[in-house]
Order: sequence, then structure tokens, then C-alpha cells
Amino acid sequence: MKLRICGIRTVWDAVGDGEFFCPGCGGDRNYRRLTGRRRFAVLGVPMLRRGTTGPVVECAACRSRFDTDVLDHPTTTRLSAMLRDAVHTVALGVLAAGGTTSRTVLRTAAATVRGAGFDDCTEEQLSIVVEVLSADIGHGSAFDPAAEACGAALAIELHEALEPLAPHLAPAGREAILLQGARIALADGPYGPSEREVLTTVGGALRICAEDTARLLAAAARTPS
Ligand SMILES: [Zn+2]
Repeated sequence: MKLRICGIRTVWDAVGDGEFFCPGCGGDRNYRRLTGRRRFAVLGVPMLRRGTTGPVVECAACRSRFDTDVLDHPTTTRLSAMLRDAVHTVALGVLAAGGTTSRTVLRTAAATVRGAGFDDCTEEQLSIVVEVLSADIGHGSAFDPAAEACGAALAIELHEALEPLAPHLAPAGREAILLQGARIALADGPYGPSEREVLTTVGGALRICAEDTARLLAAAARTPS
């Protein structure tokens, strides 16, 4: 056996903690954020400071250590909340574009939002939110600057809800969100021009290319729901 007489030894200090998704043991876990102090050691006894290292993130369950960029990945809990919000925002977007006068559209939208995890979402709630949104922004003709602003505000909402989610979803997961929006729009017949516009924005925010978005929307329109 080779006796290690001297070498660099790292002493780790905990500088914070929280919850993260551990890629080591695959789940939401607590972590400690560690910074290391590197010391020159003789016979395992630390002697001179050799600077700092890290920080790293250590899983409380499996003790695996990772670079801090592991924290960029949302926890499973956070990810399901983001998904739920995404579907809710898409539903509101489609309703704001197509109007809430159709009972079938409202019913489909409420069922979709409940399916995404907002268990107590009702048609009435959705129609109130859409009314408030529309009143805030003002209704007008296509030549009304307020209507233009409505489109822009809606696009911003959609980008904020969808863009942070997109990198964490497989293509099928991103397409599923778009298709849920498409089914709401199709509940009362073919897409209207503003519904199509909103769904195109949804596709873009989900990083689905324009061609694929158009193809998926056309396929959804051919398939009876
Ligand atoms: Zn772990």
C-alpha cells in the first residue's frame, strides 16, 4: 500500500441549501451548496491555503456532487406548476382570440385547464378572466391601435409562460401543449384568423418551427376531437 504523504486536500464548507432535481438519484431532493478550500496537506493534515474551489451542489440523498448549473433544471414540482400555467395561459390566449360566446369552446377550455391540474377551473372563471383581459386592453377593429396592443400583450404573456418551459420538454410534450390549444380553438369549427395567429405564437414560444406548427395545426383540424 502506498502511503500518501502530501497532496492537495479540499475542505468543503456549506454555503447554502435548497431543493433541486438530482440527476444522480432522479428526483426532487434537498441539496447543500459547497465551496471548497484547497489546502496543501502533509499526512492528511491541512497546512497551507491553496485557494478556493467549487462551488458544487451536493445531493442530500445520494451525496453526488454536481456543477451549480444543475440548479438551472427545475424540480419536478416546479416543472408541473410551469406546465399547468402554460396550458392555462394558452387556453386564455385562444379564448381571448376567438371570444367566449361559444359554450362548446368554453367547456373544452375549462376541461383542458382542469386536465392540466387546475382542478376547480370553471367555464365562468375562464370567461371572467378573458373579459377582464379584454376590457383592460380594449376591443376594437383590426385598425384600432388598442387591438394591436392586445395582440402584443398576449404574445408577451405567452412567451413568458412558455419559453422557460420549452427547453425542459421533449418535442412531443411541446406539441401536446400546442395541440391542446388547437382543440379549444376547433371546438366551434375551423380556426379563425386571430386563433390561428395565437396558436402560431404558441408554437414559436414553444420552439416548434413555423413549418411544424402549421403542419400540426392542419393535422388537428382534420382530426375530429
Ligand atoms: Zn441524489
